[in-house]
This record gives sequence, C-alpha cells and structure tokens, in this order.
Amino acid sequence: MLTQTEYLAIAAQIDFPSNAWINGSYTPAISGETFSTLNPATGQEIGQISACDRADVDVAVDKARQAFEAGVWSKKHPSERKKVMIKFIKLIKRNEQELAVMEALESGKPIKDCVAIDVPETIDCIQWHAEAIDKIYDQISPSGDTSLGLIQREPIGVVACVLPWNFPMLMAAWKLGPALAAGNSVILKPAEQTSMTCLRLAQLAHEAGVPAGVINVLPGLGETCGKSLGLHQDIDAVSFTGSTEVGRLFLQYSAQSNLKRVVLECGGKNPCIVLDDAERLDEVAEHVVNAVFWNMGENCSSNSRLIVHSAIKQQLMGKVLEKTRDWITGDPMDPRNALGAMISQEHFSKVMAYIKGAQEQGAELILGGSAIKLEGELAQGLFIEPTIFDQVTPNMTIALEEVFGPVLAVMTVNSAAEAVALANDTCYGLHASLFTSNGRRAHNVARAIKAGTVSVNCYSEGDMSTPFGGYKQSGFGGRDNSLLAHDQYTETKTIWLDLSTESEAELD
Ligand code: NAD
Repeated sequence: MLTQTEYLAIAAQIDFPSNAWINGSYTPAISGETFSTLNPATGQEIGQISACDRADVDVAVDKARQAFEAGVWSKKHPSERKKVMIKFIKLIKRNEQELAVMEALESGKPIKDCVAIDVPETIDCIQWHAEAIDKIYDQISPSGDTSLGLIQREPIGVVACVLPWNFPMLMAAWKLGPALAAGNSVILKPAEQTSMTCLRLAQLAHEAGVPAGVINVLPGLGETCGKSLGLHQDIDAVSFTGSTEVGRLFLQYSAQSNLKRVVLECGGKNPCIVLDDAERLDEVAEHVVNAVFWNMGENCSSNSRLIVHSAIKQQLMGKVLEKTRDWITGDPMDPRNALGAMISQEHFSKVMAYIKGAQEQGAELILGGSAIKLEGELAQGLFIEPTIFDQVTPNMTIALEEVFGPVLAVMTVNSAAEAVALANDTCYGLHASLFTSNGRRAHNVARAIKAGTVSVNCYSEGDMSTPFGGYKQSGFGGRDNSLLAHDQYTETKTIWLDLSTESEAELD
C-alpha cells in the first residue's frame, strides 16, 4: 500500500477517459451529449462522459458484428486468444495503481480494497478464463457406428454486458473474461456512475492485441443506452448485473425484440445464520461485520440480515459491536480507512430513508444511524455510519428489502429450523453464511437454504473456480465465474455425420 499523499499524487496525473470506446478508439457520442461523473467523497466533478444512445449503440453493434463475422477474434486459435488475454492481464498489472485510484475516485470505494481486492481479482478472473480456453473440450455423442454426433460449442456472437456501479472493474471482468475467451464480440455498458475503469480496460485490451470492434464500451444512461442494447435486433445475448427491477426489464426487451439470450445477476437480501453451537465467536463476529459492511454494504452478497440463536446472541452482539469500531469510515483515498462514500446523493438518501423507516417501524437502533459529516474537501461527501438494528421482525422493510448500505438487521431465533425458515423468507436467494461447529448440521442447513452460494464458518463468495449467481429473484439464466460462465457466452451446436457404408469395400 502507498500512502494517501502518494495516491493523491497518482490521481493528479491521471488522464481520465471520457469518450466511448468503439472499434478500437475513443469516440464521442454522435449526439455530442455528455453527462457528469462525480467523486462521491467530495461531490466534485471528475469529468464529463459521452452519453451514448441508440445511434451509438447501432454503430457499436455494427462494428462488433463485422469483427465477429470477419473472424479476427472469433476464429482465432484458442491458444492465440489466450496469449492476447495474458498480455492484457500484464497490461492491467502494469497500470494497477492508476486503475485502483480511478476506481476509488469514481465509486467512493476505499483505495485499500481497490488495491487489495478489485484490481487483483480482476486480473485473476481474466487470467482464469484465458487459461481455460485451450483446455475445454467439446463432446462426441454415443451415436453408434453409422453416425457421428459432434456436440460443439461456438461463440454466441455479439454480447452486451450491462454493469452495476458497486464493483465496476470486477463486474466488467466477470463478463469480459469468459465472453472474450469464448470468442465473442462484446459491448460493455458501465453504470452511469462509474464508466472510467471500464473504458481504460478496453483500451488496455486493444493495446494487448484484441482486434478493433471486439470490445466496445458505451457509457450512458440506462433508459437510453441500456434499453437500446436490450431491444437491439442484432445483439445475441445480454449478460446483466444489477437490480432485480432492471433485470426484469431485460427479459421484456428480449421478448419485444429478437429473443436474445438473457442472463441476470441481481440483488440479494442475504442471511447470516449463527447457531447456538457456533465456536470461536470472535472470528464469527469478524465475519459478520465483514459480511455486512464490506464495500459500505453496497454489495449484492452483503449479509444484511443476522439471524442469531438466542443462546449466544448476547455474547456475539458484544463482539460484533466491538469489531465494528475497527471499521473506520473516511476519505476513500486514505488506505487506513475501511469504508468510503456511498455512490450518489440519490442512493445516500435511499439508505438514510431505510434507516429512518426502520426506527419508525420499531426496530431498536443499537449502533450508528446517522450520516457522517467530514471536513474540508470531504464536506460534501456521502458518508454513513455503520448501523445496526436489533429487534427486527420479519415484516419490517429492512428485513425484506435490499438496502445496499451499511445497515445490519438483527433477528433472533430459538432453533436451526426457525433460522432456515427465516433465511428463506425472502424473494431473493443469492448468498448465505452459516456458523455452526457441527458438520452434519452444517451440511443439512446449507442444503436447506435456497441460495446460489452458502459459505460455512466464513463469509465468502467462493473463488473463480466456483459458480456465482442466484436462486429465485436474485438471478436468471446462468452463472458467473467458473467454467459454467462459459455456458453464458456459447451456443451449443450438434453436427450429425452419416457414416453408414453399403459394404466393407467402401472403406478402401
Ligand atoms: P441498476 O439495476 O440500477 O443498474 C444496472 C445497470 O442497468 C446500469 O448499467 C444501468 O445504467 C442499467 N439500467 C438502468 N435502468 C435501465 C433501463 N431502464 N434499461 C436498461 N438498462 C438500465 O443497478 P445498480 O444500482 O447499478 O447496482 C446495484 C444492484 O446490482 C444491486 O441490486 C445489487 O445487488 C446488484 N448486483 C448484483 C450482483 C450479482 O452478481 N448478483 C453483483 C453486483 C451488483
């Protein structure tokens, strides 16, 4: 880690990207329109970004299609694609400080996390998929002597990836890694709050040798740029990460246009269950705090519901309160801070309204609950205290809705069965954590929870080798990460060859 002064010096040197990336170069929006991107820690404008709309989408899709049909990437030998992607990773590594600083400035995330998590995991993700490309085999069906059934994967074509603002670079990598590996042309649409690192990634990929047209980045608003992608007749698939509400729209867009494939990674209201036989409560408390407050709670797998057994509740809560004190909120550019700013004024107000609503509905505020006012350059920053509510009941809004902020709702149970019922009492099913010292119970409870990932005796999303995605309204149509992610970006083709012969003589 560098110091705050050193990170600020890097920030001062950055030439921030502002235009769309189309067909291998930075390009302003055809309309000439721009929108402002702000630093949520200071409220100051970082720059103006091209606001792409339908006309830009048409151009980018056309270029992406041309590149795909020309085969400059889609028909490259897998080992050649791998080499280019490995070079791409090296360039990310060479620019890691700049990318981390850009990410922290635009998203309000702590630089500590950008350096230690976002950039390394971006590299790891792209590397993992790059290394897989020339090791994935196709299949031959059990078709008998007279036929040969080949089951082959092919790149799907032009893929649009619509991204959220909470992990701008990493979510781009989760899509870009497998989509590129499979040979597709890609159009990335970053969230309007966080366009810059995605633009820079595309530039680095181009420098590494990804041909023009294969990666395009269209910054812009959801209702214009995002919708045009969803409705486009020549996009073959959309991979979306964001809210369930907007995810639903992409299913409608698909139905209204060309039945493009849609994969959705959406929201969560994730439970952390601590049973009465959980051991090492100090460590459990650390996981509980990390699970809810990491990334200011702006995390789809944030464990925002703590479901704790009454027998250990008092002991655990003492430790949770103590550990939370270590999570200092402040300037994202200061690597001593664990928490930074909320993404936008609108989102800040939404989270504060949830906090107010919880108090009105009778939840007991036991920690935080207020905005934090910092001084100087940070006086307009959007900071919220880590907040904990006890005595939360299942019908309260903070028990039901994704707050996406640093707010923990604590609920008490008297048995594992009650904990499971409460954990599943949600329209979401993305992630859950479970703490118990009994292996059989761990397995049985983990299986009873309706969620795409259940981490036991830790808070974890797994790693690049494990699929990530949601049950119920947390997801649709596929998984990110692991080799299953390749299924999102490939079509399956059967080639059936007739091998029948009239006589043995035909063998000659
Ligand atoms: P969002 O749904 O508001 O926006 C996501 C993307 O959709 C953005 O690029 C936005 O511009 C675009 N969009 C918005 N309105 C649109 C419209 N009408 N038509 C087309 N596109 C539109 O989500 P967000 O606020 O950026 O991100 C937070 C959400 O993302 C949370 O719900 C979080 O749980 C979820 N998320 C899920 C995962 C996962 O892997 N499951 C990961 C990260 C974030």
